[in-house]
Amino acid sequence: MAREEARLAQALEGQAERLSHCVHCGFCLPACPTYTRLGDEADSPRGRLHLMGAVLEGRLDPGADAFQEHLDRCLGCRACETVCPSGVEYGHLLERARQVAVAARPPSRLQQALLGAIGRRSVFLPWMWASRLFRASGLPAAAARHLPDRGLLGTVKLGSAMLAASAPSRSWRDRRPPPSPAHSEAESSRPAPRGRVAFLTGCVQDQLFHRVNQATRRVLEANGWEVVAVPDQGCCGALHAHGGRLDDARAMAWRNVRGFQDAGIDWIVANAAGCGAAMKEYGELLGEVDEGRGEEGEAFSHRVVDVTTLLAGEGRTPRVGAALPLRVAYDPPCHLLHAQRVSGPPERLLTSIPGIELVPLADADECCGGAGIYGITHRELGGEIGGDKAAAVEASGAEAVATGNPGCMMQIGAQLRLRGSPIPALHPIEILDESYRRAGFYPGSR
Ligand code: SF4
Ligand code: SF4
Repeated sequence: MAREEARLAQALEGQAERLSHCVHCGFCLPACPTYTRLGDEADSPRGRLHLMGAVLEGRLDPGADAFQEHLDRCLGCRACETVCPSGVEYGHLLERARQVAVAARPPSRLQQALLGAIGRRSVFLPWMWASRLFRASGLPAAAARHLPDRGLLGTVKLGSAMLAASAPSRSWRDRRPPPSPAHSEAESSRPAPRGRVAFLTGCVQDQLFHRVNQATRRVLEANGWEVVAVPDQGCCGALHAHGGRLDDARAMAWRNVRGFQDAGIDWIVANAAGCGAAMKEYGELLGEVDEGRGEEGEAFSHRVVDVTTLLAGEGRTPRVGAALPLRVAYDPPCHLLHAQRVSGPPERLLTSIPGIELVPLADADECCGGAGIYGITHRELGGEIGGDKAAAVEASGAEAVATGNPGCMMQIGAQLRLRGSPIPALHPIEILDESYRRAGFYPGSR
């Protein structure tokens, strides 16, 4: 036990240099959703960094309520990193501080149960199977409508709304007019082969959003990429890292590094922002405890690319499909915008689709309150932040909201449903895929 404590103390001690970058200017405060909602300095990035420093210097016990509660209330959205003029690596620090925090005091039972289930296939797969069955019954939509918004039933209500929001929706496609012959003439020819890629199918993504993975494969192939299957892969470990369970996250990272190692590919594609951000940090995560694994992790991380960057990054234009008249609001996932600093490719991808009207979304760069399992474990604050996001989507006049992360799709979709709004939350790739289907790019698809 003493050895474990020493190792954890080291986890934060190693961060002294990173912590020292904060000059306490406070520029990050207005960007922080918990600070703007709660108005408490301790719930701001600067306040939390101050608490980390106090633990590091031995002035505060990591089991103290202040350290535990204010760190726990952080969304991990990393909006503070984007605006910080000193380049404070807040996300990295938060994960190490949480490792120390959970060692000092176990997190809530709900959090432990959720992370434990996601990390164990023998529990996760039956849970997801049952969830899909429940989803197919149509009952989650009714539960989301009728259950009271308090206590345990309130959690069931939110979980049901999230599950209902993850269901495939055809209404947004079926309401669109069919493509005209003029649109077909605008189709671009099949591009030349571009290279070989594989993608992380993910855990929740593959179980509840399998259609997005299928669409990703089709869209990549339609753009000249050969997609190879990598069967030996698993969860990216992002949720465990955010929850301070860095050893679990490292085991998951290493499995993926090994799994993709001999695939003979140019790129490892991520279609879930949280997974992409985590995979881009494998080198550092693994290198903290094993230099050799760190080097292999770094080589892996360098090949990770978000699917929108691969298709519509600098100098790249996606193949043009058929028209799909739809007013879309784009909400960038925090782990794409703030953690990966990807901004531009998702919007370019959407506007490359004939008929798409991209409408401005107020406060689009603010977190949706989903933040992995935060929406469930912090139902009230997550709901307030998510409610504001849903209200902004409604006010934008959009017919659909696009966001490239399963957690964000479920949170925004659920909050819209709870407000009685029919606006679906879609992955940008789903929309491009539908445009391609209408253009007849897939055999027998028109
Ligand atoms: S984290 Fe950055 S922006 Fe925030 S107080 Fe510190 S230096 Fe300023
Ligand atoms: S990660 Fe998000 S919630 Fe946490 S301190 Fe930074 S801005 Fe605030």
